[in-house]
Amino acid sequence: MKNITVIGSGTMGNGIAHVFAQNNYTVNLIDVNETQLKKAIETIGKNLDRQVAKGSLKEEDKVRTLANITTFTNLKEASSNADLVIEAASENINIKLDIFKQLDEYTPAHCILASNTSSISITKIASVTKRPEKVIGMHFMNPVPVMKLVEIINGFKTAPEVSLTIVNLSKAIGKVPAEAKDYAGFIANRILMPMINEAILCIQQGVGSVESVDTVMKLGTAHPMGPLQLADFIGLDVCMAIMNVLYEGLGQDKYAPCPLLVNMVTAGILGVKSGEGFYVYTPGNKELVVSPRF
Ligand code: NAD
Repeated sequence: MKNITVIGSGTMGNGIAHVFAQNNYTVNLIDVNETQLKKAIETIGKNLDRQVAKGSLKEEDKVRTLANITTFTNLKEASSNADLVIEAASENINIKLDIFKQLDEYTPAHCILASNTSSISITKIASVTKRPEKVIGMHFMNPVPVMKLVEIINGFKTAPEVSLTIVNLSKAIGKVPAEAKDYAGFIANRILMPMINEAILCIQQGVGSVESVDTVMKLGTAHPMGPLQLADFIGLDVCMAIMNVLYEGLGQDKYAPCPLLVNMVTAGILGVKSGEGFYVYTPGNKELVVSPRF
């Protein structure tokens, strides 16, 4: 495996391109948005600079990593020689189904098609291709160059040898793979999101304050960040969307998004990205300040 095509150059796509390029793979990075592509290369450059400053990367390795990445806006050109495609485009089922239909046509027959989706069914994505046995989930964590885990999701028809190839590839780029079957939320979000939802329900029911809930989980269960701060960081809209996927996919009331979460999202209070969630975020202020709403 040599040529990797990464689709989408946003938060996840630029991190995935960075890691493969640093590990000597040839990376074609494609996005429909040219400005985003330029920003992605700048971000990768800055992140590599940080590694050089910390002494974990040599300057010549930074130059080599950047030289391994070519940017594209045309999917056919970007994927026609790919051994593996990793799709990290926006979390929208229609966008993803459209991309996979095209990839099935443009990529060589041996090419494995992976998606970095957080919540969309791999079996569903695979069903629009004529090679469902070669479609798999490669769920990287944010920030990709730092986080070790790759959750590997086997769709209903994913071939065992394809899983093995992706497990070995994940190890080859310094990650730790963990396999999951294709049920809503896979493993990471199936466990993380109900915990966040329950933390929000504790606030709704007045079980504890925002500080209490986050302090209990940080100091009591050794989480690096409390669930409410983490929810703000992920985006409350994203948390709600994933709860809805669990609710619809697993059909149990315990997965229903908590009413306080729904109200906050409806009111446009989305966490870090909107400047307010359970905490308020003012540019330049590094201190964590609880929103006066709570
Ligand atoms: P993002 O919004 O930062 O980036 C998505 C990029 O995809 C954008 O640059 C957009 O222009 C591009 N895009 C949209 N349609 C496209 C198309 N047809 N062809 C090519 N590019 C296209 O999103 P993100 O946070 O990087 O998420 C990407 C994927 O990774 C999603 O499936 C998401 O669920 C998943 N994911 C995100 C996180 C996270 O923490 N952000 C973590 C794990 C997985």
